[in-house]
Amino acid sequence: MATVLAFHAHPDDEVLLTGGTLARAAAEGHRVVIAVATDHMAADPHTESPRLRELRASAGVLGAHRVVHLGYTDSGHGPVLLPDPPGRTRFARADTEEAAQRLAALLREEDADLLIGYDANGGYGHRDHVKVHQVARRAAELAGTPRLLEATMPRETIAHLVRLIRVLRIPLRYDPDALRTAYSPRSAITHTLRVRRFARQKRAALAAHRSQVAGSGRPATVMRTLIRLPAPVFGLLLGREWFAEVVVRPAPLPHPAGQRPQ
Ligand SMILES: [Zn+2]
Repeated sequence: MATVLAFHAHPDDEVLLTGGTLARAAAEGHRVVIAVATDHMAADPHTESPRLRELRASAGVLGAHRVVHLGYTDSGHGPVLLPDPPGRTRFARADTEEAAQRLAALLREEDADLLIGYDANGGYGHRDHVKVHQVARRAAELAGTPRLLEATMPRETIAHLVRLIRVLRIPLRYDPDALRTAYSPRSAITHTLRVRRFARQKRAALAAHRSQVAGSGRPATVMRTLIRLPAPVFGLLLGREWFAEVVVRPAPLPHPAGQRPQ
């Protein structure tokens, strides 16, 4: 049996792009670990953030065995990268090498056979998702992880999904120009997983992110609409997951005390 480590930017990302794949891997007896780069800080720094609790609930629904937070905080998707909150680093501002070392330590501890990261565009371009791409690639090199799959979607499919979403009256706002460069071209996809039979689990995992579902604004409305869809319709929209496999070249051994060769 293999160990799969899925690295995600924010709690709830594990569901939409990889929930079916992780549920299937767990159902087939593999060990599934979810690492998340960021959370939102709890008001009391000694308690776990509600977002991480929700992630644990989602992971439980998907059958994952362990959830690890790498210790960063959300960088936001606005035009400006906000200053770091006290005592925490926004993931987009984190040192890539340091973050990759944290993830590589987990990959080694778990003796992971497969790492899941994100495509180079970070899907739709959130700065934390782009960072996941960079950190996952470097961590796989550092840890010598045998396989790296980057979660993505074929751009060409997104146009079809957008039409379906309109028919279903899901209030998703999108920028047609951004779609042309988001995610990956179909030619880059190496693995398409059909995960419709895990649609109920995927929908329940999404619903476990209660604070996101209960929020105001468009993303919460989209989440609420999705979790109310009948499972067959949910499966039609979210019953496939796509990955691009990357060849990992193990990094040379690091130089002592961080010194660079002359
Ligand atoms: Zn995200």
